[in-house]
Amino acid sequence: MTQPIVRLINISKTFDNLTAIDNISLDVYPGEFLTLLGPSGCGKTTILRVIAGFEDPTQGDVFLNSVRVNGIPPNKRDVNTVFQSYALFPHKNVFDNIAFGLKIKKFDRKTIDEKVRSALELVKLTGFENRSIHQLSGGQQQRVAFARAFVNKPLVLLLDEPLSALDYRLRKEMQLEIRQLQRKLGITFVFVTHDQEEAITMSDRIVVMNQGRIEQDGSPKSIYEDPANLFVAKFVGEINIFDGKVISVADSRMIADVEGVQFDLLNKKGFAAGQKIKVLLRPEDLLIKKSGDECKRPYIEGKVQEMIYKGTTVDVLITMNSGQTILSTEFFNEDFEDIHYEPGEKVCINWANGWEAVLSDD
Ligand code: ATP
Repeated sequence: MTQPIVRLINISKTFDNLTAIDNISLDVYPGEFLTLLGPSGCGKTTILRVIAGFEDPTQGDVFLNSVRVNGIPPNKRDVNTVFQSYALFPHKNVFDNIAFGLKIKKFDRKTIDEKVRSALELVKLTGFENRSIHQLSGGQQQRVAFARAFVNKPLVLLLDEPLSALDYRLRKEMQLEIRQLQRKLGITFVFVTHDQEEAITMSDRIVVMNQGRIEQDGSPKSIYEDPANLFVAKFVGEINIFDGKVISVADSRMIADVEGVQFDLLNKKGFAAGQKIKVLLRPEDLLIKKSGDECKRPYIEGKVQEMIYKGTTVDVLITMNSGQTILSTEFFNEDFEDIHYEPGEKVCINWANGWEAVLSDD
């Protein structure tokens, strides 16, 4: 079996009385693009710093390529970090910034020249060798920071919110570039972000964190479509949460009361009759029809509160009889002219069978 490149075993890190990381174990495999995703302060950066060797864990073991590295300083670990702030040398030109680590490792001049030029080509900055850092845009500076970090071909590249200083459009472009770069280089990436869309777009695997713990570890698709709990469901994108109760179960299905209406749902988690549940649906998975149109039973009734034009989609805010507001996202198609709701208009709400995720309500 493939050995992990990074292995964290029961890692905890405490600062004074604050537990930043609470007993985390995690394996990262060769060539993986792994993202640590979570709200501010959940411990993402601390994990990167523990892997890099800038922090010693209070408890637990860190392995890089099967070697225990606790106590080994950062410069003796085959790991590089790209920071949000780029951390380039302002008085050195582009070439010298990228060549810095290679010179320290005492490569000969010809090898340094070749490696720097090949790195510049990969980040699309050929011809910028002699530019000084202040003559570069934010995106170009970030590319130099990447080139400097991977020119030494580290075992692992750690990336701490490297795109957060860039504007929206550039950020989108760079997300794609970094992903392509990672595939070309084949280096293992551990990426930190609090932006769920960024995590979903870029990663092979996402680890969702909260208060120093792992809430879910899985593919972007599983995290989005099958959240392990309400924290993950709410953190990773918009979600509607309906209250429900199981009425009866049969094989892999169950009849449940959802907002006062009986639905036939998949019972993937072995719920029992009488159990309270939360039925989760993404806004794009809801099917909305005007009352009186062909509303296929079963459906929940609601009243349109507001319609919000979003460019490529329309958001419809709907108040259910319970008083709770839900969100439905409808995509434009050639029939869009027909998608129009007036505030107060009655609608029926349901979804394609099996598209719901169901969690226990405890
Ligand atoms: P952000 O997205 O805001 O960077 P994060 O998820 O990366 O957050 P960390 O920077 O890992 O979170 O911080 C986790 C917790 O540990 C926070 O409460 C933070 O204040 C605390 N912390 C981090 N470093 C130190 C330190 N050197 N001394 C004291 N507390 C620290």
